[in-house]
Amino acid sequence: MARIADEVIERIKIEVSLQRLVESYGIALKKHGADLIGHCPFHDDKTPSLVVSPKSNLWHCLGACQTGGSVIDWVIKTQKVSFRHAVETLRKDIPALAASPTPPAATTAPNPSALSADLESHQLLDQVIDYYHQTLLASPEALDYLQSRGIGNRELIERFKLG
Ligand SMILES: [Zn+2]
Repeated sequence: MARIADEVIERIKIEVSLQRLVESYGIALKKHGADLIGHCPFHDDKTPSLVVSPKSNLWHCLGACQTGGSVIDWVIKTQKVSFRHAVETLRKDIPALAASPTPPAATTAPNPSALSADLESHQLLDQVIDYYHQTLLASPEALDYLQSRGIGNRELIERFKLG
């Protein structure tokens, strides 16, 4: 399997809101200075010991767990999934990362290396017809074939751009 780019991981850690993830998991967070605190879901938490920092987008359990991390660690722990699975889940929250890695522009031209990609479609078609027409004119076998089919008139071939 392809390696997940470091850039993708870094963007997820910064851009996916940890506060939103924690709250959507059903944990009420209260403001506590610059941080937010709530009940830790990973141990029997009587006093709120889960600290979420919106500034650094990191969480930490000050109670029994003594653990913490990024949004990715949060998903791994709450959904019991692998690191890769957590990254694939979270990248869907970032539109730029959720999109296909292939830029959409590359799919508009059938063969961008041979033909200019910015041509209007009818020009492109003409170019393709010309290409096959020139190929035909350069091929004695093809001309012989046409002659055998009764289409031997060169003028006719060129007028209708047979290919
Ligand atoms: Zn805990």
